[in-house]
Amino acid sequence: MNTKIQNIFSGKRQKPIIIAGPCSAETEQQVLSTARGIAEIGSVDIFRAGIWKPRTRPGSFEGIGIEALPWLTEVKKQTYLLTAVEAATTEHIEICLKHPESVDIIWIGARTTANPFSVQALADALQGVDIPVFIKNPLNPDMSLWIGAVERFQKAGIVNIGIIHRGFYPFVKSAFRNIPKWDLPLDMKCRFPNIPLICDPSHIAGKTEYLAEISQIAMNLNFDGLMIETHINPTQALSDAEQQVTPIELKELIEKIVIRQTSSENPDIRSLLEKYREQIDLIDFQLLELLAKRMNIAEAIGKYKTENKITVFQLRRWLNIITTRVEFGKKINLNEKFVKKLLQLVHREAIHLQNKNQNGENSL
Ligand code: PEP
Ligand code: MN
Repeated sequence: MNTKIQNIFSGKRQKPIIIAGPCSAETEQQVLSTARGIAEIGSVDIFRAGIWKPRTRPGSFEGIGIEALPWLTEVKKQTYLLTAVEAATTEHIEICLKHPESVDIIWIGARTTANPFSVQALADALQGVDIPVFIKNPLNPDMSLWIGAVERFQKAGIVNIGIIHRGFYPFVKSAFRNIPKWDLPLDMKCRFPNIPLICDPSHIAGKTEYLAEISQIAMNLNFDGLMIETHINPTQALSDAEQQVTPIELKELIEKIVIRQTSSENPDIRSLLEKYREQIDLIDFQLLELLAKRMNIAEAIGKYKTENKITVFQLRRWLNIITTRVEFGKKINLNEKFVKKLLQLVHREAIHLQNKNQNGENSL
């Protein structure tokens, strides 16, 4: 058994599992210079590179395919890194299994996890094979799909399974490309405590500027590792250009992350304060997600009011909101003044959004 793989899936790691590499393998030079840059950092375990790319619409770059396999072989020769590619069809699986000199690990993409027929076909193709599989969460937050995918690969006899949290498709307007919904990966960790849980901040963020913050939250929440898209020349990337960092930026990012002791092995080490802070972090993000949802509905109401020539501000409705919320707030021990202030702030923003809809950008 490969000791590097054993180390990753042993459950005894003190430091995070780091997966890095380009969204897509594009050229031999791009793959090798990225891999060498990543290997120099020293703390990265796995080199990722998509060679078959799931693109939402046809016509964009769909990956290099098998031509990239020798490049990955070269990565393995020139660096200590393990290699991982996404497999979405049984043909992809067969090719990966035929080329152990190029591919060490397979990952299942978010679009595939959403389809139980595909997952079952892939699990069947891997029946009895000893290769590690990382499973990304499905695009939609239907946890049974993610759980089901883990179960299907477990039933096929895959021993080394990891799960990757890459966020969920935002049906509401969001700063992030995919909404983290942090409680869902943590539910998965509770259900599968021995399976490494990796966060993919790149696909959550969609932009490099949020990577550090998301990575730190994942570490605070005791994730076992990170998958960060890294490209030698991100602006020229053929896919996901906006979210990829250079190997040097990756090094800086990794160095800045504060790694705390993992609670699973040292339950007493983390202070109570830290545990409370993790809960607060989680709740803050949930609050923001809910606020975004509320604003979206307010905007939809705004459009309706404009179309039907109804005024934005409706006194009776507003008074009703204040009274019912303050009453409810009191019941759950919230300060009356605080609830009023908070609602005023939220209401003001909703009115602002609706006004923008009625009067264009120059309003209020
Ligand atoms: C990827 O990792 O490049 C990818 C396509 O991700 P996801 O399946 O999470 O969209
Ligand atoms: Mn990508």
